[in-house]
Amino acid sequence: MRGRERATPPHLRAENLPPPDPTIDLDDAGDTPILREYRAAKAEHPDALVLARLGDFYELFGADAELAAPILEVTLTGRGFGSAGRLPMCGVPHQAVATHLRRLLDAGHRVVLWDQVGEVVAGRLVRREVTRVLSPGTAVDADLLEPTRVARLVALAETAGQVGVAALDLAGGELVVMEVAGGLGSVALRDELERLDVAELLVGDPASVPPALLLTAVRTALPVPLFDGRRAAERLASATGAASLLGLGLEEMPVGVRAAGAVLGYCERARVSLEPGLLRVVPRQSGDLMRLDPPTRRNLELLEPLGSGPSLAQLLDRTRTPMGARLLRRRLQEPLTDPDPIGARLEAVAALVADRPRRGELRRRLGSVHDLERLVGRVTQSLATPRDLGAIREACAALPAVARLLEDLPGELTGLAGTAVPPVEVEADLRATFVDDPPPSSREGGFIRPGADPELDRLHSSAAEARDFIAGLEGQERERTGIRSLKVGYNRVFGYYIEVPHAHREAVPPDYLRKQTLVGAERYITPRLKEQESVVLSARERAVARELELLGEAVRRVTAHGPALLGCAAAGATADVAQALATVADDEGWVRPTVDRSTVTDIEAGRHPLVERSLGRGAFVANDTSLDVAHRIVVLTGPNMAGKSTYLRQVALITLLAQVGSFVPARRARLGVCDRIFTRVGAQDDLSAGLSTFMVEMAETAAILRQATARSLLVLDEIGRGTSTYDGLSIAQALVEHLHDSPQLNCRTLFATHYHELTALAERLPRVVNARVEVVEEGETITFLHRIRPGGADRSYGIQVARLAGLPAGLLARAREVLGEMESRRPLEADREAPAQLDLGLPAPAAHPVLDELAELDLDGLTPREALSKLAELQERAGR
Ligand code: ADP
Ligand code: MG
Repeated sequence: MRGRERATPPHLRAENLPPPDPTIDLDDAGDTPILREYRAAKAEHPDALVLARLGDFYELFGADAELAAPILEVTLTGRGFGSAGRLPMCGVPHQAVATHLRRLLDAGHRVVLWDQVGEVVAGRLVRREVTRVLSPGTAVDADLLEPTRVARLVALAETAGQVGVAALDLAGGELVVMEVAGGLGSVALRDELERLDVAELLVGDPASVPPALLLTAVRTALPVPLFDGRRAAERLASATGAASLLGLGLEEMPVGVRAAGAVLGYCERARVSLEPGLLRVVPRQSGDLMRLDPPTRRNLELLEPLGSGPSLAQLLDRTRTPMGARLLRRRLQEPLTDPDPIGARLEAVAALVADRPRRGELRRRLGSVHDLERLVGRVTQSLATPRDLGAIREACAALPAVARLLEDLPGELTGLAGTAVPPVEVEADLRATFVDDPPPSSREGGFIRPGADPELDRLHSSAAEARDFIAGLEGQERERTGIRSLKVGYNRVFGYYIEVPHAHREAVPPDYLRKQTLVGAERYITPRLKEQESVVLSARERAVARELELLGEAVRRVTAHGPALLGCAAAGATADVAQALATVADDEGWVRPTVDRSTVTDIEAGRHPLVERSLGRGAFVANDTSLDVAHRIVVLTGPNMAGKSTYLRQVALITLLAQVGSFVPARRARLGVCDRIFTRVGAQDDLSAGLSTFMVEMAETAAILRQATARSLLVLDEIGRGTSTYDGLSIAQALVEHLHDSPQLNCRTLFATHYHELTALAERLPRVVNARVEVVEEGETITFLHRIRPGGADRSYGIQVARLAGLPAGLLARAREVLGEMESRRPLEADREAPAQLDLGLPAPAAHPVLDELAELDLDGLTPREALSKLAELQERAGR
């Protein structure tokens, strides 16, 4: 027996099979009518979780339930289906479905609502239909979206290396179309997608898209026919009402058009209705916008802070409406490269900086404009609640005042006063139709204004009359019958009844029909009572139904004004961004930069907006920057903690802010537009690192060298630091030389390094200048002045910094001793003496390894105890 057991693979042994699974899958789960229908719905949407409305709950069955239960944090139960077993099941109350949908979408799932659409009649199966197909990119409900973020549905099509990108913001009705050269694996495409806030990526073949692209977006594979070019043109025409691609500006973008067709086709399949005329197609030429790659976005803390302070987006966001916040965020993602539109934005900001009272009033009024963009979006998707319509009404009431405040403002606000005025009918209509403070849900009714609809009024008044009748019935009947203890009551089974104690049975009139006998009394009904009762009960139901009908009609009327209202929303959002930027500029003391086509970066008294924020007013030391044709590369030296990284980022941030159309933290700034900003931070300095290695650092540097142009701004912070001193120094030097000498580069570059040896380069390379961060040395201590000065640092002050950081005195003393020995053995200053043919003066690393290790010690990362044991170790290895 044992021998045989061993010979048979364990999984084939019948006696070892697990007990039969107590749960069964959907296909075997028996054949009740509801299951049959559910199966059909599921078969239509195999890749989605199907939520079936059963009474007050949305239920999931089978594998869907098993998948969803942990995400929704609800208990997985089961329901018996005959002898076959139990079908796993879980459910959520219908009132709370939005929160649960959001969780499923956030987890990257597609969700189908299989809803009750027919009347509920006891004993009959309610008609159910798929009413919504939701995916992260197609959700438009208020509850499913973050107010300040756009969630775009993006399709990619590719032909011969040309990638068409179509990005649909469904809630705002905007479709951005562009083409990017270089294939699906190109960095250009990655950078474009990075700024689009992609919630869902639609592709024909998911395997063709690099796995690392947009990790947070859900990927959906679409059948190839959806990418068909001719169908795409038709779909675009019907969605926009435009007669031709020419009218949309898409005639030169065949691949982009195919991608657009795929997005629209996907929406059709997801039962998202796109009202003709409400979709704005925005063709975009690559090169219109400054490119920012992921490490640069991260380093500049564009949207997410690296530390505990605010991100740039948070610092700037003084908007008053969610749509303004979204527009601002979008602009931060898409700095411009053409000085003219940048100037137009700055002009508008300047006007609002100058006119504080007007700005204050504008801010106040904008508060009532709400998220008009998404409100209109929900209206056109027929998802608007009564409260949404109330909000639109309030927005329409506030907009004329906003428009007046925008009158004769310059720059990009020119002419917006005209578009900001909503059609007068809308507010009047909504005011006449809806009560003052409409409820968030339409379920219970009560949102239509009395007097708005004669039929509804009739229903209300007949219900009221019937209620009055029933209320008066008791007294009436007591009088008629003379039975003083007669009562009118209500229960759920029989409805209204008249109750008479047995003692008075004889006095009951003949029109009373006996319904129920109790211990001490008899209950009766009368035809008249039943008639009134049904009036009350059905009037309520019919009133709600009528209110829903009226809501639908109002939604259709507002939809007809959709394009005008979206125009108002766009004007409101633009004004909101302008006032937000003006408010920051005023509050933080920023100035209007001059942005031109030069390749000059000339900043007087610039500041780092985020560090300044965290240090508090006045504590930040402002610094100048001057890069021009003759001075392209600044080599910035200075000890750790002196302020090198801060200075570098400040220049990048000022450049970025200017091209976004914002004022900048400086006393004065003239900036030639940059086509790209690259920032790279050497491995050990990268706060967000984790997987930062020297390899990553070098790969990123290589990427810069391939992509940078003479118009780029390079911010290189301690590049070469992630390896040993000598390697690092050599690489850093070669890099500066390369940037200086390559004619197609020669771009504005700030290079921070703690290798003071690099300062020698300035003597040899004409367009390299040295700068250093000033420190004051007093005996053993140094004080950081954070002031940038011309010239290079002559030493690195490592030991002084170590002292500041609190390393034990004994260790420091020993370090000085080691340093002394090393310097006497090998003067590091050899480069000074032979500037013509630069020799870094670095002999083969004969130096004591202890010194290297000391130099590379991460002081911030050591506890005093660790420092002590490190000291002991170093001492031992130093040969003591
Ligand atoms: P480095 O890169 O030279 O090591 P950092 O730029 O990281 O130095 O700056 C270290 C700290 O010094 C910052 O966190 C900030 O608190 C302070 N600091 C930097 N620059 C300034 C400045 N211009 N004014 C005031 N404080 C500054
Ligand atoms: Mg630094």
